[in-house]
Amino acid sequence: MSLIELQDIRRSYGQPQRTGDDPSPTQVLRGISLKIRAGEFVAIVGASGSGKSTLMNILGCLDRPSSGRYLFEGKDVSGFDADALARLRREAFGFVFQGYHLVQTESARENVEIPALYAGMPEAERRARATALLERLAMGARLDHRPHQLSGGQQQRVAIARALMNGGRIILADEPTGALDSESGAEVMKLLHELADAGHTVILITHDRQIAAQANRIVEIRDGQIVADSGDAHAAAGTAQSHDGGCALGHGQASISADLNEAARAAWRVMWSNRFRTGLTLLGIVIGVASVIAMLAVGGGSQKQVLAQFETFGVRTMFISARESSARAPSAPLTLDDVDTVRSLPNVEAATPYIEERVVVRRGNVDHGSEGGGTTVGFNHVLGWRVTEGTMFDAVDEERAAKVTVIGQTVRKTLFADGSDPVGQEILIDKVPFQVIGVLAAKGTTDGEDQDDRVVVPFSAAAARIFGHRNPTWIAVQVRDMQQATATADAIEDRLAHKRRVRDVHVWNRVEAIRMQTETARAMTMMLGLIATISLVVGGIGVMNVMLMTVRERTREVGIRMATGARQTDILRQFMTEAVLVTSAGGTLGVIVGLAIVAVLMLAGVPVVFSLLASLGAFGCAVLTGLIFGFMPARNAARLDPVVALASQ
Ligand code: ADP
Ligand code: MG
Repeated sequence: MSLIELQDIRRSYGQPQRTGDDPSPTQVLRGISLKIRAGEFVAIVGASGSGKSTLMNILGCLDRPSSGRYLFEGKDVSGFDADALARLRREAFGFVFQGYHLVQTESARENVEIPALYAGMPEAERRARATALLERLAMGARLDHRPHQLSGGQQQRVAIARALMNGGRIILADEPTGALDSESGAEVMKLLHELADAGHTVILITHDRQIAAQANRIVEIRDGQIVADSGDAHAAAGTAQSHDGGCALGHGQASISADLNEAARAAWRVMWSNRFRTGLTLLGIVIGVASVIAMLAVGGGSQKQVLAQFETFGVRTMFISARESSARAPSAPLTLDDVDTVRSLPNVEAATPYIEERVVVRRGNVDHGSEGGGTTVGFNHVLGWRVTEGTMFDAVDEERAAKVTVIGQTVRKTLFADGSDPVGQEILIDKVPFQVIGVLAAKGTTDGEDQDDRVVVPFSAAAARIFGHRNPTWIAVQVRDMQQATATADAIEDRLAHKRRVRDVHVWNRVEAIRMQTETARAMTMMLGLIATISLVVGGIGVMNVMLMTVRERTREVGIRMATGARQTDILRQFMTEAVLVTSAGGTLGVIVGLAIVAVLMLAGVPVVFSLLASLGAFGCAVLTGLIFGFMPARNAARLDPVVALASQ
């Protein structure tokens, strides 16, 4: 059985793609039939333009014929898919081109290693074999040289070593001496002879009859047809099957991590050789990620400030007090009637009276001046106050004027310095014994006043047992609709002025202020988030742009990798790895820069809230950006036709 059998192979270019195009495609190969046995040294000779390279691309499974059958070891390769063809190239063929076709960013040894990479050979073995091959070809001293640091003859030797890397059962050499001086050319021919003698099948393509004459069999091609075939002059040698016994191919897949490792290393090399461009791309991502982190921190900070206001003054709450009385016109105190009046106004959800006067609280021998308060049930909802221990007083306590109290944190600290549980214990408020039933949540200081230095008792108890009057110091009003707060405040002032016959109450409208702050904070967060998102997207587009450029520049490299057996997934993975590597590097830098900005803002006193989640999210977005924006260019690269890719400049 022949190793390779071509039956009436035809290849034409310029198939009309649209109506109106030249309807007659040019036939380059016009019925080639050829059998090649294992171990033969065949030269295919013909004038320039006769179709030799086209034939070689078909022989090497880089290209498919338009018609005809290609049997490889008896199997019709037309049924093979892209991956199966890649495997055939990887395991059976070794290409040597006129233009060497080495990957410029990789060293001689790395170039030789490429086919084994796609065959899944372990790194150490790969390295040793590449080194051994290069040493055998007298390139041992040039292992780490880049292609541009090598002469043409040396580059061609690297290419031959690469062709042999996976065994090179069939060496396909297309004008291997075409770009070389006669001396280097002779050396390359000598190497091909040695390979043929060692049992490799060598198919040499040349326009030079003298070079062709060195082969054992000469096939002459003219205008896409075979016009002469010397046949196998050394038929006996054709049975030679031994070829490079030293090659043990790892047919299995390399481990994913080793693959990724390799892809990352290759990606790093490419990025490094394009440092400036990589830097610019990185910058886009860094700015994007850093701005997301910084802006979310600032937005979070301003929202936290607004929330702190809610904590202190309650949500949708405003306060009514009688104006400072002057000596000449002492203003009448607020009354419970006023509370009812306010309650009856539209948009008022609740109104709570609050008597507030200085008191002395005492426990054991500790005296403490504090703010005493009496208020009705439900005040805690209006004011947004909570107890952290115990309970609030209830309607029954109010009805009975029960001697129960809820104390602030400062009072607790002062009177219960011994650390005992205050709930259930008795304290004196202006000499009247009250039982502590709850402790209020800490509120901190507002406008220099300690909000936690207070005791609160039922309104009825405060009026009857402590202060001796029922006039609220202020009234807390909760409005239904924040948007109407200002109108409601005006309505309260008007109505009370009408009723009291004098305009002497003041509504302290925090709601409007808080509403505006909330809206500002929300708008700011949204705007900051938008800016941050835009910068991330711009960074992503930068990545895509660079990737598209990279793919275009490296189309030939993609072709080389495919010729040496890379699957589409290998190419896809390589470019995706590059994109993700750039974006993760950018993301990491961005997180660092973002944290630095947050730290500086913190030192400058700007309220910021740092969120680890946001940082991780921004980093994740950056990597995702790389995946998304890198995918299209990577897929374009993976889908390239090997012949087209190889032919590109
Ligand atoms: P050789 O290698 O013998 O010099 P080629 O096989 O490269 O010849 O080319 C044979 C003919 O096919 C030439 O006329 C060339 O112009 C044509 N040809 C080769 N590749 C293409 C292509 N991709 N599209 C159109 N014509 C092509
Ligand atoms: Mg050619």
